[in-house]
Amino acid sequence: MTADPSSTRDTASPYACDLCRLPVEVSGFELMTVTGVKRFCCEGCVGVYQMLNGDTLVEDKDGQLSEA
Ligand SMILES: [Zn+2]
Repeated sequence: MTADPSSTRDTASPYACDLCRLPVEVSGFELMTVTGVKRFCCEGCVGVYQMLNGDTLVEDKDGQLSEA
């Protein structure tokens, strides 16, 4: 019997874009939200997600918050 170790390997598939579900092959397109970090495949998906879920985004800036 031959146990093929490659058949039990962990899935090496990349993270699925949180907008279009395509594999995320380039890191850096990330957004911090109230439910955690979202990752995207491209800048376009980041922009669309920002528009659709703007109220769930958490600003990750060192700048001071403008409290009016
Ligand atoms: Zn995408």
